[in-house]
Amino acid sequence: MNRLQRMLYGANRRGAALVAGAAEILLPRRCVVCGRPLLERGGQAVDLCDSCLERILPLRKPLCRICGREMPQGTGAGNLCGNCLHTRPSFTLCRSLFVYNETLRRIILKFKFQRRLEVLKVILELAGERVPEGFAECDFIVPVPLHKKRLQKRGYNQSLLLAQGFFGYDNDKIVVKLLERTKNTPPQSTLDRRKRAKNLRNMFCIRQPELLLNKRVCLVDDIYTTGATLEECSKTLVKSGACEVFSLTLGRTPLEKR
Ligand SMILES: [Zn+2]
Ligand SMILES: [Zn+2]
Repeated sequence: MNRLQRMLYGANRRGAALVAGAAEILLPRRCVVCGRPLLERGGQAVDLCDSCLERILPLRKPLCRICGREMPQGTGAGNLCGNCLHTRPSFTLCRSLFVYNETLRRIILKFKFQRRLEVLKVILELAGERVPEGFAECDFIVPVPLHKKRLQKRGYNQSLLLAQGFFGYDNDKIVVKLLERTKNTPPQSTLDRRKRAKNLRNMFCIRQPELLLNKRVCLVDDIYTTGATLEECSKTLVKSGACEVFSLTLGRTPLEKR
């Protein structure tokens, strides 16, 4: 590098630093969820403010023994919720890590539809130690699949990213080709409860059912609202020979709005 180049290089670097510094003063970093300017500068991996972080809440016990739904305070441990009493799910156990509130909704939208995958990292750090016992011991970990057309459009399956985050990126129990979504139907969030169940009928199929015989499977999905998607996946797995199905979701509608 000659003297001139060094001068130019140095000048550029100083120039770039100046521009970056000015941008930080003029355009403060903002929280990806609420849009408030962040007080601290730099350092944090993701722009998420403390008050949004505090809104990421665990579920409150007691929980339904099967589906993990929050139950009214005072309900005895080990009880079942009305839904599970009415129709026993085909899965043995479902647990969710956080309350699906407005903050979590926005966070999920960020990584699901806006490709803000760094937002997912924050959530996974919080989720770290929260995966309940027994789930990691399943024989297979199966992210709820997207239809291949939707996968092509989005470029990634958010449930696979969650499964990798919960159980490790190189966990060879995570299988994506076992369960397949055969119909590309409207998103569940656009339908009411009755239509959701109908929308999902015969929606999934199993590739290589011989692998499933007497195996315990852990399904992973982003949100549990009515549980219809997980139930449909679980039924398909059990019909094809799985001995037990667990379900794990990131978010869960709480008993009362929080
Ligand atoms: Zn915020
Ligand atoms: Zn229940």
